[in-house]
Amino acid sequence: MRDENKKENDLMEKIVSLCKRRGFVFQGSEIYGGLAGMYDYGHYGVALRDNIKELWWKRFVDDREDMYGLDSAILMNQKVWQASGHARGFADMLVDCTKCKRRFRVDHLKNKEVCPECGGKLSEARQFYMMLETHLGTVHDEASLSYLRPETAQGMFVNFKNVVDSFHPKLPFGIAQIGKAFRNEIAPRDFIFRLRELEQMEIEYFVRPTDWEKYFEEFRTQMHEWIKDIGLQKSHVHEIEITDEDRAHYSKRTIDFEFDFPFGQKELYGLAYRTNYDLTAHKLEYQDEETKSRIVPHVIEPSFGLDRTFLAILSDAYTEDELNGEVRSYLKLSPSVAPVKVAVFPLLKNKPELITKAREVYIILKKLIGAVEFDDNGNIGKRYRRQDEIGTPFCVVIDFDTLTNDTVTVRDRDTGEQERVKVGELIEFIRNKIN
Ligand code: ATP
Repeated sequence: MRDENKKENDLMEKIVSLCKRRGFVFQGSEIYGGLAGMYDYGHYGVALRDNIKELWWKRFVDDREDMYGLDSAILMNQKVWQASGHARGFADMLVDCTKCKRRFRVDHLKNKEVCPECGGKLSEARQFYMMLETHLGTVHDEASLSYLRPETAQGMFVNFKNVVDSFHPKLPFGIAQIGKAFRNEIAPRDFIFRLRELEQMEIEYFVRPTDWEKYFEEFRTQMHEWIKDIGLQKSHVHEIEITDEDRAHYSKRTIDFEFDFPFGQKELYGLAYRTNYDLTAHKLEYQDEETKSRIVPHVIEPSFGLDRTFLAILSDAYTEDELNGEVRSYLKLSPSVAPVKVAVFPLLKNKPELITKAREVYIILKKLIGAVEFDDNGNIGKRYRRQDEIGTPFCVVIDFDTLTNDTVTVRDRDTGEQERVKVGELIEFIRNKIN
């Protein structure tokens, strides 16, 4: 067991170190000693996140006819959070160890009376409010109080009427939003798994009350399809039915999609049946032309954490193997999410004719594929290792044969195998591989 734990810690350390070394993720405010629960994303991190968001938007918005996008403000009138129940209900139950003074979330403890760290007695549970407060304007009083939203969902509920009035959608339909959310987590930990500033991709899908089970099942299937889109291993994802006592205050049914992270099986996504709780709370209704009546639609909410998706993708993709007698580490990313799709190298950096030709090929690829890099630094082995570590699926090398027969070698990241391809057929070749 101890060896297993060590292996898992090693894997996390390797992922964190790769993220920093290769410019994916940096500790927030690092030069001032950091700030708990905050991370900054570097160049490749931004690209990977953008790819995830784009794929998500494609599956859940662009490929459908019943979904409306939204980008609502992070700060909202405090009445929103009073009506939604968050101002009094968005809290975790917390206990303190009377001996070592550590704090724990009750729902994370198997034994709710004994400290898992030192065996000391745990205190009575008390509520810990998780919304981050701020004040707008110059006076800090009750009236100027606002909250950094703890979920993107409420922005979609309070815009329900706007969406209905602008687009006249028929039930069922959904509103989708990607954006930041903030939670004053008691114990931010496990790298970007438990953050205080996080990003969510969420849908509120409005249905007739009697249809909720049908659409709950539909989104359950869609969520598994999404997991395939981003290349996560199916066997690493587990559905957990949340019990009555552990469900959020607004939910009548919730399934968590848990993932085998290096530090254990933990929540990746949630799928909740929010009933008509939120629309009722905001006094919102819908004129149903089919039944000629005013109803309060019910809501199915698939909720995806972007940062947890990022970490799950890296955990599954991190690979070590031996290639040509050398141990290497690389990210076996699906081309759909890889920050760089193709890297182009001249074989040698001090041969101007190779560089000129390599830049020509690079510009053609960049125009049509986009996420393409040119690299003529150091020897070719080092360039391959760098691209392997950032998960680039293909490296194209321009050598002396290119100058005579207009062919290049294309190296596959996972197998290290190289194929000669005509420059004129390169785009087609790579596109076929990527798709
Ligand atoms: P947990 O039980 O792990 O605290 P939760 O049940 O509170 O999570 P939800 O309220 O269902 O989470 O939020 C929806 C999604 O947002 C989660 O499935 C997760 O992907 C993401 N998420 C929630 N809290 C965090 C956090 N602190 N850091 C990063 N992502 C988070």
